[in-house]
Amino acid sequence: MMTRADVVVIGSGGLGAATAFYLAKSGRRSVVVVDKSDIASQTSPRAAGMLSCARKTDVMITLMKTARDHFRRFTEETGQPLDWVHAGSLKIARRPDDAKVIAGDVARGRRMGLDLHEIPPTEARRLHPFLQPTGIAAAMHVGDDIYFNPPQVAIGFARAAEARGASLLPRTTVTRINIEGGKVSGVETDRGSIRADVVVDAAGAWTRQMAEASGIRVPLVPTRHQLFVTVPLEGARPDLPMIRMIDAAVYVRPCDGGLLWGVFEEGPRFLDMDVLGSRFDVKDTPLDAAVLRRAAEDVKDQLPILSTAGVREHRGGIPTMTGDGEHIVGPAPAAQGFFFASGCNVAGLSISPALGEALAAWIVDGRPPLDLSALSVARFRDRTWASEDQLRRDAAWQYHHFYGST
Ligand SMILES: Cc1cc2nc3c(=O)[nH]c(=O)nc-3n(C[C@H](O)[C@H](O)[C@H](O)COP(=O)(O)OP(=O)(O)OC[C@H]3O[C@@H](n4cnc5c(N)ncnc54)[C@H](O)[C@@H]3O)c2cc1C
Repeated sequence: MMTRADVVVIGSGGLGAATAFYLAKSGRRSVVVVDKSDIASQTSPRAAGMLSCARKTDVMITLMKTARDHFRRFTEETGQPLDWVHAGSLKIARRPDDAKVIAGDVARGRRMGLDLHEIPPTEARRLHPFLQPTGIAAAMHVGDDIYFNPPQVAIGFARAAEARGASLLPRTTVTRINIEGGKVSGVETDRGSIRADVVVDAAGAWTRQMAEASGIRVPLVPTRHQLFVTVPLEGARPDLPMIRMIDAAVYVRPCDGGLLWGVFEEGPRFLDMDVLGSRFDVKDTPLDAAVLRRAAEDVKDQLPILSTAGVREHRGGIPTMTGDGEHIVGPAPAAQGFFFASGCNVAGLSISPALGEALAAWIVDGRPPLDLSALSVARFRDRTWASEDQLRRDAAWQYHHFYGST
């Protein structure tokens, strides 16, 4: 086993693999990616694969546009396959108050150069034959959005990183990050030590355990998220726009001749990775179809198909939520050489090319290519959560209000 590298990346999901790829591509750092499971096998391949450019802040819009551009040339850039569709999306407000969310998205998005417009509900119906205009107060069309095939992303980045000299160590568990005199000096694994001055904690649902074992606090909560894929449906064309419904927090996109859909329910299930145990595999995440059935009932006037279509696949995974809904990316002030790539807030795969590229540049050049202070773990210095309960309440609120609130 390799015993020395410039950078150890813990985790080969979208965030870790993309970081490793851009580090290897720079040619200026030797990289080893360590994963306790098979490469790219945990939450990342289970995502919906939807990329949304109309975000709540300017920095997120910039990152999502960058990520979208990387996905469009993924194969050219990495040499790996990626199926993606430029379908655009519809955002739907049912409550009059949520029309303000759309007005805000349109104003911010236009200022940031996005192709988005408010459209009448009848036009939304014309663009998406499964959508009924009943009870729709306002609608927005976003021309920029794409969706992609999730299982191809992290594995594609990992293979491309390996092709550029990175080492991949699957089925190898990092048991501790070594910190000496306030600086990272490497990691211990169940197969031996690796010395390194830089470690990236991209351990997904296990990020917090990994950091806290080295005394570094990171306020994020592993959270179950699940979706259905329906059987093939007449009219479910791959180029139908994705749909996002603000108050119901339901999303839909075409998938293999049917529809893929999920919900950010009120009161999500948080998971304790210590209780699940070190051998837990995300494929065994306890799922609950009743959550999705209730969501289908909630939107039955607008999307009756979700209540009637047969289900071909029910899958879920464990993204991590933060109390303010922003990712956690960049250095941990408590230990030189310790970086985070986590706190994905159920949007880690779509943003992974942009964050991986930015983090790699940060590690190599000593500064990020754009101001990422909004994503820094240092932002929690003045806002430490009084209790785990408060963190979970805030994380649950962020989760359910994924598509915005007034
Ligand atoms: C149903 C569903 C739908 C989603 N839809 C979308 C979407 O449309 N768009 C979007 O952007 N995001 C979506 N997401 C979220 C997305 O999946 C996550 O944001 C993303 O996959 C997070 O990637 P990651 O690299 O942080 O985690 P992971 O993919 O889980 O990778 C973390 C890795 O770290 C490894 N690891 C952990 N501990 C250790 C250790 N001690 N030693 C070695 N390795 C370790 C794990 O084995 C794992 O492979 C969805 C998620 C789900 C579940």
